[in-house]
Amino acid sequence: MSRRSIVAGNWKMNLDCAKAAELAQAVAGRHAEAGNVELVLCPPTAYLTTVGTALGLVHATSPSGVALGGQNMHDKSSGAFTGEVAPPMLVDVGCRFVILGHSERRTLFGETDGIVNAKTKAALAAGLTPIVCVGETLEEREANRTQAVVTTQINDSLAGLTPADVAKIVIAYEPVWAIGTGKVASPQQAQEVHALIRGLLASLASPAIADSVRIQYGGSVKPDNAAELAAQPDIDGALVGGASLKADDFLGIARAFA
Ligand code: PEP
Repeated sequence: MSRRSIVAGNWKMNLDCAKAAELAQAVAGRHAEAGNVELVLCPPTAYLTTVGTALGLVHATSPSGVALGGQNMHDKSSGAFTGEVAPPMLVDVGCRFVILGHSERRTLFGETDGIVNAKTKAALAAGLTPIVCVGETLEEREANRTQAVVTTQINDSLAGLTPADVAKIVIAYEPVWAIGTGKVASPQQAQEVHALIRGLLASLASPAIADSVRIQYGGSVKPDNAAELAAQPDIDGALVGGASLKADDFLGIARAFA
């Protein structure tokens, strides 16, 4: 089955309002360069409306073709959760995607697979496409535990999802040692884990559904290493941190997946 590649930019806690709008306009204005690749921008929560407006998603009749995503959310739809953002709020400001279980959320903010699981179900219930992140640390890779760690993360983060739900998600394999470090996994290392993940999805849902789910690679993806990653049979796009802050670099990566 041919899967539509998806390249998402995780801007993390960077930029200011004016620069966020400028970057979104630059990507939107040039999105045709990426051909059929689905493009998603995930700005800080504070700038979602600004970026959504720049992308033509808020109060506009002609959306730009670039989608909007949150970087995180709570699993409840409303209530006394100071500082949090609810899934319907993301939908309300034009998001179609949300990154869940990013390694920074897991390591810096204590998100467990159980929390990621609750958020994944809440995202799906709200009509958002979750981009569920998994990946091993350097210590785990060196101890030959990559397969075991990723297997647990996938099985526990997706526990209780129906096959129809599994069909709606995107997975991002992001080895923690490659995030923001300039160390990219070799195409073979990445492909090996992507194939493992697809096998796990087949067990959780069905081989046909596993075949349809997009699995992104993330970890120091740049325009000059994207093509060899894109050439791997089970790598269907990228989740991009640092390089997504420059339109040229982000679109250069997207072009490699076109
Ligand atoms: C990320 O944070 O999801 C990421 C992949 O970051 P970078 O591209 O900077 O390694």
